[in-house]
Amino acid sequence: MNAVTKQPEVKNFINGKYSRNGQKSMDVISPLDGTVISSLPLSGMDELEEAVKAAEQAFVAWSGQTLKERVQVFFRYRNLLEENLDELTQLVTIENGKTYGEAKAEVMKSIELCEFAVSMPQIVTNEIQEVSRGVECRIERKPLGVVACISPFNFPNMVPHWTVPNALVLGNCVILKPSEMVPLSAMRMAELLKQAGLPDGVFNVVNGGKEIVEAICDHPRIEAVSFVGSTHVAKIVYKRASSNLKRCVALGGAKNHLLVLPDAHPQMTADNVVASMSGCAGQRCMAAAVMVGVDAVQHIIDKMVEEGKKIIPGENLGSVISQAAKERIEAYITEAEQQGATILLDGRNTIVPGKENGSYVGPTIIDHVTPDMKIAKEEVFGPVISIIRAKDLDEAISIENASNYGNAAAVFTQSGGLAKKVIERASAGMIGVNIGVPVPREPFSFGGWNESKFGVGDITGKSSIEFWTQNKKTTTKWNPEDKTNWMS
Ligand code: NAD
Repeated sequence: MNAVTKQPEVKNFINGKYSRNGQKSMDVISPLDGTVISSLPLSGMDELEEAVKAAEQAFVAWSGQTLKERVQVFFRYRNLLEENLDELTQLVTIENGKTYGEAKAEVMKSIELCEFAVSMPQIVTNEIQEVSRGVECRIERKPLGVVACISPFNFPNMVPHWTVPNALVLGNCVILKPSEMVPLSAMRMAELLKQAGLPDGVFNVVNGGKEIVEAICDHPRIEAVSFVGSTHVAKIVYKRASSNLKRCVALGGAKNHLLVLPDAHPQMTADNVVASMSGCAGQRCMAAAVMVGVDAVQHIIDKMVEEGKKIIPGENLGSVISQAAKERIEAYITEAEQQGATILLDGRNTIVPGKENGSYVGPTIIDHVTPDMKIAKEEVFGPVISIIRAKDLDEAISIENASNYGNAAAVFTQSGGLAKKVIERASAGMIGVNIGVPVPREPFSFGGWNESKFGVGDITGKSSIEFWTQNKKTTTKWNPEDKTNWMS
């Protein structure tokens, strides 16, 4: 684990300059050991208005460049991410609490997202057809204008890269509102984009909490909003932004079910399920939350406990985001225990020596959870897995289907036929077969179903092209001699 070091005070980044106007502020605390590492401004309407004005002014020249010109910034930026990989990784670790390896994988994913963004000229080729002699129709993708991206605490570097590079290369100007718990990576992102040659005002960062999110949803000159966070807030943002006539895609929380069949490869399954529930301290929207054990899977559960015991908080398991999160997660475990579930591995009351003020929860495996328990239904967002026993695959599928969420689901089996049945019937947007964290890699798009996503389309990949652009349809005729048909 990294040494926690003090970081520069967080500032807004507006029109290419850092600013802080004496607004109210909030401490930024490293969950690794409880140290106050920085403070951030809680911005309001004035700062947002300044950012929107800067973005509007920059939009004229930025959207006037060709797509091929705009992506040049991202070739340079992608390389800067690689050159600064170690420093960016450390920053994620310090502000979010994940391990160095997990943080590095996060920044690597940001690099992959930039690689998709620079491939846009190959994908966005527009359409043209001679619809009658001498008459052409063409469709061009045009940017929307000023757009906003709101991100959560769990991937301070990656989630902004889901949206910002694509929105920018497609010609929009962006205002990013990072999570107030992890604002440092976004500040570095702004610096590196400027170093890569992004013109001032094209990308702006406004820090704060609820107030600034509401101001974004209400601002009449912000055209579109992307949101990633909890379902509770995703609903608020989706409703508020849409009622103000904005385009909105809002990704919410998750409760991912992993269906384990008796013929599953025992070691591979145990490794995958445990890695999925404990990686990033279970604070991934793709994390395993419920294992539905079908019929005779005790031998796999035993192996999971063996694997779980190898996960040591403060060594190969990072912290959760805050003391409040630790308390919330532990309360879920205690309530499940009181309701009759069996705790096979207990991560409560974890203290890492030398980091007594850190927020750690050890890996927790809970057996004999029933579908009616709170822990089976709500998002815990910690390194905790609930095991629900099912007599057969149909019952397992109906348990999965009953969840309000629908981000990911997975099946572990050696039977192609049974896997196919789960692929077809699971009510989730992203499905894994013998894979515990089925995140689609670029160019495949990311997005869940049900209460894990509101709005049309996915947030990355080709779906994002639709979201961040609008079509301009032009019909042209130049030659008066050309015969025309009944329409032109
Ligand atoms: P959160 O919903 O608390 O916060 C997300 C953003 O909303 C932050 O920028 C925050 O400042 C803002 N916010 C918080 N409360 C608000 C309110 N009442 N009104 C307006 N804005 C508000 O989420 P979080 O705790 O930062 O992140 C964890 C959650 O995000 C989990 O539920 C996780 O599953 C989800 N998540 C989902 C995905 C996905 O792809 N579906 C990806 C990452 C995280």
